[in-house]
Amino acid sequence: MSCIGHWVNNEAFPGASGNTAPVTNPATGEVTREVALADVRDARVVIDAAAAALPAWRDTSLAKRTAIMFRFRELLNQHKDELAGIITSEHGKVLSDALGEVTRGQEVVEFACGIPHLLKGGFSENASTEVDVLSVRQPVGVVGIIAPFNFPAMVPMWFFPIAIAAGNTVVLKPSEKDPSAALWLSELWAQAGLPAGVFNVLQGDKTAVDELLCHRAVKAISFVGSTPIAQYVYATGTANGKRVQALGGAKNHAVVLPDADLDLAADAMVNAGFGSAGERCMAISAVVAVGDIADELVLKIAERAKSIKIGDGTRGCDMGPLVTAAHRNRVASYIDQAEQDGAAVVFDGRQVSPDGSEDGFWLGPTVIDRVSTDMSCYTDEIFGPVLSVLRVESYDEALELINSNPYGNGTAIFTNDGGAARRFHNEVEVGMVGINVPIPVPMAYYSFGGWKNSLFGDTHAHGTEGVHFFTRGKVVTSRWLNPSHGGINLGFPQTS
Ligand code: NAD
Repeated sequence: MSCIGHWVNNEAFPGASGNTAPVTNPATGEVTREVALADVRDARVVIDAAAAALPAWRDTSLAKRTAIMFRFRELLNQHKDELAGIITSEHGKVLSDALGEVTRGQEVVEFACGIPHLLKGGFSENASTEVDVLSVRQPVGVVGIIAPFNFPAMVPMWFFPIAIAAGNTVVLKPSEKDPSAALWLSELWAQAGLPAGVFNVLQGDKTAVDELLCHRAVKAISFVGSTPIAQYVYATGTANGKRVQALGGAKNHAVVLPDADLDLAADAMVNAGFGSAGERCMAISAVVAVGDIADELVLKIAERAKSIKIGDGTRGCDMGPLVTAAHRNRVASYIDQAEQDGAAVVFDGRQVSPDGSEDGFWLGPTVIDRVSTDMSCYTDEIFGPVLSVLRVESYDEALELINSNPYGNGTAIFTNDGGAARRFHNEVEVGMVGINVPIPVPMAYYSFGGWKNSLFGDTHAHGTEGVHFFTRGKVVTSRWLNPSHGGINLGFPQTS
């Protein structure tokens, strides 16, 4: 069986560890390939290559770096169907959704094509008499990017276009569940003319991550994954002196106020709850129905859930399988538990008839009504196609529910009342807010990131915060000497 390896110095590198993990097609249950799992020696080969490439790349002119970014963008745009196919074959999401993922990643590449403007510094002439001050932002060095399974192309692209354009070199550690997209992107970089060693891929698990967190050459870490691992990565990386942004898990609430258009709200709940089989960090998982609309809203959501076509992502279905059998069973166990806890499973995805192999990891859309805040289907991030409905009496109760939740990634409100919407976006303690928009993922020129247990670190992803994260500020104060500048003065420098 073929083995997916690492990528170093613009070449495939099989590694020497001999450790592998299976890679599965979730729609068929079939193990299609293996992926190499790096040991410490393999990891050092990859990181050392990135460190060796750094001096020449950071000194490469902005004009040349930008030209490569534009070529990469063109190649990606031309061949993105190919990448979408790879994503579907290892993740399971339907092809149209995989293409959407690539397009959202491409937007960050397009943003990074403007790096000359984004890196412009400041200059003050005569800050003091004949003294000038200038500020620049310089690359941080080798950057480690550690990605989750659910967006094998888009999440790495939140980071590496900006990191590379800003003059850093990169080691990407993909999820072991869907490692091929990263290699495809590596080949594209090589075709675009990126010098060897600037973009590298390290396949592996905790061993590879730990080496990135400890290796002296690695200066910054961008991590995306579950909250416990994000906490670990943040604590370990910062203890080792690295700059870390660690994006964690989520529990995203959508509030539906009594004045909302319930048909539009139900459409939005279904799209945001069941798209990508709920395996999105911005998926809606908790519907908060305010006032006496709950019965009608639940009915409308269930009706729509019934119409969703489940099956192999290559066959034009609406929703694909879950990523692994273990994950499918874990999600199903939350539905079992909710039933035992007294919630009402009004639409049950545990039994489905998919358009695809019976060995796929299928679980259909599920709607659980009358959920309370102590039930595990509410307290835990399920990361599957399960919508929990919580019923509250008032806007204040809805707000309190969201603000008490330990996560703060995304949220949305559905209403036609502008005042209520404005109050919500002002008062809610969540990083990304949608008003009649269920998945408010910011555009590439804004920054993506949650609050509370959804992000550890100070800096969100992409946009100007991304540029800031991958660069360090430097301020230069200069005076060109003439004889009038002589004389001894031990005082603290002041302007004159
Ligand atoms: P995960 O935490 O299991 O894995 C993420 C990465 O960490 C992978 O590369 C994995 O190999 C590595 N890893 C796993 N165990 C590790 C360990 N013990 N030590 C060090 N590294 C380890 O996450 P996942 O299941 O791949 O992805 C789903 C999670 O990611 C969900 O919680 C989801 O909410 C979150 N996510 C968050 C965002 C966001 O923007 N906040 C975006 C996408 C996904």
